[in-house]
Amino acid sequence: MKLLKYISIAAAIGFILVSILTRVPAVQDRMMFGFIQSLGSSTADLNDDSLSAVVCGSRSPIPSPGRAQTCILVNAGGNYYVVDIGDGSAANLNNWRIDANKIRATLLTHLHSDHISDLADLHLMTWINSAHKKPLDVFGPEGVQLVTQGFEDAYQLDYQYRHDHHGDEVAPIDFAGFNPHPIDLSNPVIINENGLTVTAFKVPHDPVEPALGYRFDYKGRSMVISGDTRYSKNLITFSKDADVLFHEAQANHQLDIMKEALAGNKGLVKVLDDIVTYHTTPIEAAQAANLANVDHLIFYHLTPAPRNNLMERMFFRGVNDIRKDWSAAKDGTMVILPLDSDDIIITEID
Ligand SMILES: [Zn+2]
Ligand SMILES: [Zn+2]
Repeated sequence: MKLLKYISIAAAIGFILVSILTRVPAVQDRMMFGFIQSLGSSTADLNDDSLSAVVCGSRSPIPSPGRAQTCILVNAGGNYYVVDIGDGSAANLNNWRIDANKIRATLLTHLHSDHISDLADLHLMTWINSAHKKPLDVFGPEGVQLVTQGFEDAYQLDYQYRHDHHGDEVAPIDFAGFNPHPIDLSNPVIINENGLTVTAFKVPHDPVEPALGYRFDYKGRSMVISGDTRYSKNLITFSKDADVLFHEAQANHQLDIMKEALAGNKGLVKVLDDIVTYHTTPIEAAQAANLANVDHLIFYHLTPAPRNNLMERMFFRGVNDIRKDWSAAKDGTMVILPLDSDDIIITEID
């Protein structure tokens, strides 16, 4: 009993000491110095000896706290490709200390705002104090050049201010902006470098025309990203025998409840009605994954993205009856496909 008393007194004194010391400016300065030094120039470890991916945005335009709009960062042996860059996703990449020097290109699945709106912030990451010696390559469907031109116009003054302020070493004006690459589906292999092949394919998301999905093949491992699509036979064809399929999903049974609960808001109800036919339900996505014989299915671009466990359980209602190997993406969900292996590791970025 006595010992317990001494321990309590020591803990109380310790607590008081810490709360006094952390109010002393000199102590605060040393603590901040230590913290910044420990961050240093460290970068996230995405496992160079693999094909891997991190979900940098897991939601669609419907808000869900803690989630950014659509984004998947693919790592093929130390070369990074950013597939879509919706609102909040560039901040995720920054917070996770992703090494922007390794970003080789951005690939847009289509030109909806929830897939492109952080392009300016991604540009800043790859431009300021960067090893890149050219503007950022941006692949996307026909029309991508309009998007990159628009961002360049909007940020023209920003580029100039930063260049004038920091000089060519830090903000080289010649490398500011974007290199757009509109994809011609008669040449579907859009990237073929360092052992990586990226193949673009068409998915149905009308009135968006065209909308694309991408398949990544790297040294015997493979991943497919659906982009936004309703149930698509073409996606099944291009996903054949892939290790991992990232498929968008929309829980229409939850939208029905939203419509009922929000009946007074006619504008919102109209939007919820319109979107029923241009996304894929979780059950349809699971069926597509089965038909394509993919090993693991990761649901992303969730509409509406679950805000808690109850909503998540509802969202995926019935999926377990159709297939076993699946995961629900959150921001930070990471999948690693080690080379020379059949392993599929699902984890979270540190
Ligand atoms: Zn979308
Ligand atoms: Zn869309």
